[in-house]
Amino acid sequence: MFKKTLILFSLLSCVSCDVERTPQSVAPPQETSGLRTGQVKLEKTLIHNATIYTMDIGFSTADAILFDSSGRIHNVGDEQAMLEAFPDAMRIDLRGKTLIPGLIDSHAHLYGLAISLSQAQLRDTGSKEEVIQRLREQEKHLADGDWLLGRGWDQNDWPVREFPSRSDLDSAFPERPVWLRRIDGHAGWANSAALAMSDQDLSGVWQPQGGFIYRDADGQASGVLVDGAMEMVEKAVPEISKELLQASLGLALQQLVSLGLTGVHDMGIDRSALDLYRQRIEAGQFPTRVYTFTDGAGETLDWLCRNGAYEDASGRLYMRATKLFIDGAMGSRGAALLADYSDDAGNSGLLFMPPEDLEAKIEKAMTCGFQVGVHAIGDRGNRVALDALEASMQKFPDNPGRHRVEHAQTLTAEDIRRFAELDIIAAMQPTHATSDMYWVEDRLGSERVLYAYAWRSLLDSGARLALGSDFPVEQVNPMLGIHAAVTRQDTKGWPEGGWYPQENLSREEAVRGFTRDAAYAGFMEKSVGSLESGKRADFIVLDQDIFEIEASDIASVKVLQTWLDGELVYSYPRFRPVIKLVGWL
Ligand SMILES: [Zn+2]
Repeated sequence: MFKKTLILFSLLSCVSCDVERTPQSVAPPQETSGLRTGQVKLEKTLIHNATIYTMDIGFSTADAILFDSSGRIHNVGDEQAMLEAFPDAMRIDLRGKTLIPGLIDSHAHLYGLAISLSQAQLRDTGSKEEVIQRLREQEKHLADGDWLLGRGWDQNDWPVREFPSRSDLDSAFPERPVWLRRIDGHAGWANSAALAMSDQDLSGVWQPQGGFIYRDADGQASGVLVDGAMEMVEKAVPEISKELLQASLGLALQQLVSLGLTGVHDMGIDRSALDLYRQRIEAGQFPTRVYTFTDGAGETLDWLCRNGAYEDASGRLYMRATKLFIDGAMGSRGAALLADYSDDAGNSGLLFMPPEDLEAKIEKAMTCGFQVGVHAIGDRGNRVALDALEASMQKFPDNPGRHRVEHAQTLTAEDIRRFAELDIIAAMQPTHATSDMYWVEDRLGSERVLYAYAWRSLLDSGARLALGSDFPVEQVNPMLGIHAAVTRQDTKGWPEGGWYPQENLSREEAVRGFTRDAAYAGFMEKSVGSLESGKRADFIVLDQDIFEIEASDIASVKVLQTWLDGELVYSYPRFRPVIKLVGWL
């Protein structure tokens, strides 16, 4: 009795805690009820008076859900019948709120988000002056000798849409090295002090393999380094301290659950990141499920091959897949196109490696029985990725498959059909379309743009879509992704009617891409992704009915509660459901 009352108290204390709902100030894990491992849970919990979308194959709805202390769903169904059948369960009356499966971001960078939370955030800066302002703020937290790091700038947001230079930074930061990654992570902007830390002479006319050094009229590096050139500065950046990293990871995880993400596919991490996650799991501070990909076909893959697929006993951490790259990004013209960029004659982008090298890396992962995800943005990048996957899949017929093209952003009509034919998953990020729609037609022209961000065409061809955000490239909030998928408009409703709206998804399709199909893309559809008996009780409570409200309101839907394995891991401070322990109090 004492223990049961203790749980009730902790549920109540969480739902009434008074903290602002911002990523930086959400309650730390130990203040929510569900995060401490070893805590005794109630035998059965019945959530009722809810509008439940199960996201099962028949898109069925219900108004009550029962789960047990093992964290598994017992029953989903009719409220009255379940109230009568389970009189001893703790009851939570949701007062008509909407309940859906926990959302899964099928392409994101959790480790990258943690790192980015330790750096200056330069997203949505309106000018270079605003960048300097934010950097000055960040510098206040730094010790002498520290580098000033940042990410998120995009020259397309500034009055003059040109790449910046080192001189823009030098007068404010003459001595401290400054290194700022572009929003897509495919270019970096350095001041003179950072360029001077490179162990290579960046002047002259030479260019590195798979990269580009911008230079001024005197042949000196002007400050922006693209793709393969970035490492020339990056390898001089000192390592972040373990303490700052763990603290930033804690913030990142809390941000995820406060936005309804019970799952993330983490695209490309190494062993040290996996170890960082494991430490948090051991400490009982890991409130989401993370399915990780190795960072390419190097050391991490070798280690995984030797030891076999990693699956943590907690069911919250996996590594059984490999992330590879074939090209860069559209914004920095690093995506490989079949023909020149429409706004840059003579430039058709870059392949990161010859096609046969990609194939060799894919085969290395398949030899170990793993899944492969290949980043491909341009139509040439996608063709090379599909060709390489197709050839490798024929050589490894026993591999469990579910291989993926990450982004699948610009395709040709004939390559769109190949996804379904080859049973390759298109792992796509709807907010990329709404972020890029202001300028991407300049890059691609009016013909090729018809096959870009082609979710509807892919779905109609029989392909499976796994949706995500690519955070921290885009914002973490999955509601923005669902809104973008359904409307192809920005959150201000531009453009009217949507950007190439023939590619819009329905709400059911969009949510499916963030739940059931994302679970499938991570081999987890038997345990998560829909609310059905026997599955894990991973679900979220929303303040509005995402399937009924105006489409324009989807982006503002708030998460009131997030549950993982039947434990409450996040609660919106002002949300107070009615909780009853029938027959106990
Ligand atoms: Zn990514």
